[in-house]
Order: sequence, then C-alpha cells, then structure tokens
Amino acid sequence: MVLKLAIQKSGRLHEDSMKLLNDCGIGIKNGHNQLKSVADNFPIEAYFLRDDDIPQYVEDGVAHIGIVGENVLYEKNKSVDIVEKLGFGKCRLSIAVKKTDEYGDARFLEGKKIATSYPFLTQDFLNKNGVNAEIHEISGSVELAPGIGLADVVCDLVSSGSTLFMNGLKEVEPILQSEAVMVRTKELTEEQQSVLNQLLFRIRSVRKAKR
Ligand code: ATP
Ligand code: ZN
Repeated sequence: MVLKLAIQKSGRLHEDSMKLLNDCGIGIKNGHNQLKSVADNFPIEAYFLRDDDIPQYVEDGVAHIGIVGENVLYEKNKSVDIVEKLGFGKCRLSIAVKKTDEYGDARFLEGKKIATSYPFLTQDFLNKNGVNAEIHEISGSVELAPGIGLADVVCDLVSSGSTLFMNGLKEVEPILQSEAVMVRTKELTEEQQSVLNQLLFRIRSVRKAKR
C-alpha cells in the first residue's frame, strides 16, 4: 500500500513541495514529463498535476492527500479536509484598481467590471458587501485587463505587489490570505491514515527545527 500524494507539477508550489518531502527524508525523483514517481524509502507515490486539479483529485480519492494553495482550495470548494498548514506559497487574493482611482471601500466596485481567475471567491466578497458587479473570468495575465479595456478592476493573487505596480494598478483590498496546505480525502483506511500520521510527524519535526 502506498499513499498517493498530489503535488504541483511545475510552478510556484513545486520546488517547496519537493523540498519539504526531501527535508522529511523522503526521496522522490521528479523526472521530466513524469506523471508520477514512487519514493524509494517511504510508502508514498507522488502525482505531478496542475494545482487547479488537485482539490478534485483529492475529493475523488484518486490522490489520498495533496499540497495546494488555500486560494485554489477555497475557489474550487471541494469536500476535503485540511490537515496541516505548510508555511510556504504565501500570498493574498486582493482587489486592485488603477493607480489613479480613489477606492475608499467596496462600494467603489458597484457596477464595475472585475477581471479575475477566482470568480467564486470574488462573488463571495461582493455578496458579503452587498455590491453588484460584473465578473469576467480569465485564466491568466489578469493584471493586463484594465490596461486593455477589458475590465475596470481586478481581483488577483499578490505577493509583493510589483506585478500590479508595473501594470499601473494598486492593491486596495485583500480578500483572502493564503498559504500552501496539506489536504486529505474524506475516506482513508487505517493503514493509509497511519502513513499520513508518520508523514505529518516528520513535517512537524522539520518545521519545528526551522523555527
Ligand atoms: P499550474 O500550471 O499548476 O496551474 P499556476 O500558473 O496556476 O500553475 P502558479 O503561478 O505556479 O500557478 O502558483 C501556484 C500557487 O502558488 C498559487 O495558487 C498560490 O497558492 C501560490 N502563490 C504564492 N505567491 C504567489 C504569487 N505572487 N502569485 C501567484 N501565486 C502565488
Ligand atoms: Zn493553476
């Protein structure tokens, strides 16, 4: 029996996810264009996926556990359990407006067009603030939308804010703080849960040693 772990194939969470496993003494090789890889010294098999697909794989139990950003997890709204916050991949989902705009509060957004890759979380924010706005879902380069007249404002991931700044935008309202988390499918056998417990024990030891 091996525990199947979904991690990002490439991108901002990939290196830190691999490093965490490595720090836990789990040897997983990431061959190019490989979909999966078995650890040689721990009962774990890694599946390399797009981060957007990880919540679904874990909900379905195709992967037993996964490492994904809270932003993606809450946007997809799948039924999985968070078992551990991992302390990397930190960012926030924020409303950003043109540098020259005077934002004030969420009422600024009334009647505006908002470009985002996070329509669910954006709509949730609008609902909570009683604001009506039009959401334009786009999958990438959201920060370009206001400059080309596709939208008035954006709701996008921010870490330093420099990408927004370079595109004539400014962050005005963080709506979600996010970091990478370990998620777990709802149904695990006793044996699978026991492997997960061993993994979590190692992760906690590694993170404690770093503090
Ligand atoms: P994939 O090809 O897997 O779909 P992606 O392009 O959607 O990748 P990345 O840009 O690699 O995603 O980001 C993966 C995750 O890293 C984000 O969902 C988020 O949780 C986290 N992250 C941390 N900082 C940032 C940032 N400044 N911008 C975007 N994502 C960030
Ligand atoms: Zn993605």
